[in-house]
Amino acid sequence: MSVAANDHPHVRHDWRREDVEALFRLPFNDLLFRAHSLHRTYFDPNRVQLSTLLSIKTGACPEDCAYCPQSVRNDTGLPREALMEVEAVLEAAREAKANGATRFCMGAAWRSPKDRDLNKVEAMVREVKALGMETCVTLGMLKPEQAGRLADAGLDYYNHNIDTSPEFYGSIITTRTYEDRLNTLANVRDAGIKVCCGGIVGMGEQDKDRAELLRQLAIMQPHPESVPINNLVQVEGTPLKGAEELNPIEFVRTIAVARILMPKSHVRLSAGRTEMSDEMQALCFFAGANSIFYGDRLLTTENPQNLKDRALMARLGIEPQAGEVAEADAHGEVAGCASAAQAASDGPHGARAA
Ligand code: SF4
Repeated sequence: MSVAANDHPHVRHDWRREDVEALFRLPFNDLLFRAHSLHRTYFDPNRVQLSTLLSIKTGACPEDCAYCPQSVRNDTGLPREALMEVEAVLEAAREAKANGATRFCMGAAWRSPKDRDLNKVEAMVREVKALGMETCVTLGMLKPEQAGRLADAGLDYYNHNIDTSPEFYGSIITTRTYEDRLNTLANVRDAGIKVCCGGIVGMGEQDKDRAELLRQLAIMQPHPESVPINNLVQVEGTPLKGAEELNPIEFVRTIAVARILMPKSHVRLSAGRTEMSDEMQALCFFAGANSIFYGDRLLTTENPQNLKDRALMARLGIEPQAGEVAEADAHGEVAGCASAAQAASDGPHGARAA
């Protein structure tokens, strides 16, 4: 890294709409050069962070997210599954760790968790951290005291996506407001938990909505540490089945602009990666994506198999990034220390797609 600690001249929170729209309109090569140069300034361009995502409670969600097969309002034939037992979650986490993942993300299809459900989730967080993995959960809206409980359990990241621009949001979800989302994010921040927050593209939004989605993330102070960018996975039975698909070049542009706006954040290729060619994924890594979901299942949509991902990374000369918890261990610090630390279209809460 060529930037000294506490010296991050490219990190801004005052982006205007016209600034962001102008970035999207740059010639493709100029945009990618700028994004990749910035990426190299703050990250090793040949390292990608690997997260594995497990759906710990599936389906029957009362929310009406138009992209989501887990909404009770969308007839997708998805089998419902109650909240998993802690030991079953741990078994999946051990397998994810053995396969190279450093972060374990757990998603539950709830509007918001009931306090009794949180007891179990707290136990999951503690036990997964004890394995030496970073933890992330996505559980819907959180009250301040619930965020505090998760922080006390040692949770590293909370995923809660804003999904799209404030203007387009009402076309996608009507059962909770943009403001509700921002309130949950504020509660998570106030509790001292890192924020994983991004959105979904390819939902029929306009160019200006993609620009505004990224601007909304970039004006957050601080920026979300993790920014998942999901390409809609169209699921039969959801209102967005048949939506106009986003041109792949536009998707790469979205990744590049996210990298420029939030130079220190991990930008994650999330839902929709299965449909991408190896070449498109390679372009996304060049444009600044440096995190992927890795494993068999991304909440309820198919995710590329580990072996395929490994083969692609080997061809590109990309290595997995060590997790912060693992790095702390290597430096002799206390394992599991709190300081160490859709599903949008297919998962709880906005791709991860939530
Ligand atoms: S995205 Fe999340 S909140 Fe929306 S319907 Fe799906 S599970 Fe429920």
